[in-house]
Amino acid sequence: MKIFESSFGVDSGDRNEMIDITSQVQGVVSKSGIACGDVVVYCPHTTAAITINENADSDVVHDILSTLAELIPHKRAGYRHCEGNSDAHCKSSLIGCSEQVLIKGGKLNLGTWQGIFFCEFDGPRNRKVLVQVRGQ
Ligand code: ZN
Repeated sequence: MKIFESSFGVDSGDRNEMIDITSQVQGVVSKSGIACGDVVVYCPHTTAAITINENADSDVVHDILSTLAELIPHKRAGYRHCEGNSDAHCKSSLIGCSEQVLIKGGKLNLGTWQGIFFCEFDGPRNRKVLVQVRGQ
């Protein structure tokens, strides 16, 4: 089994934002030369996350972010963390810091409507995404 590691930067432009990184991840998979295996997409930040969801209708992203904002308000009596970004930490843990996608024929084997998103919850910031491709 071959392992190929890479990373790329993501510049968010808003405090809460979902950025489609499918093409960047596919770029790493293509560069790896691995045709069959899987890829792990990992976010090394405590106030951001990685998720897979619909990238065809941008209203889905809007609705996910507005639902998270309603469930986890920016300001809430009871938060203790002094940085004032407790909502971002909560959202990060709720969504999760990685996704795994199967690779078939050198391509991400995603569903028709699926894309991989970097989720920013405390932007704007310069972020990093780690990618590990495994297979043959
Ligand atoms: Zn914090």
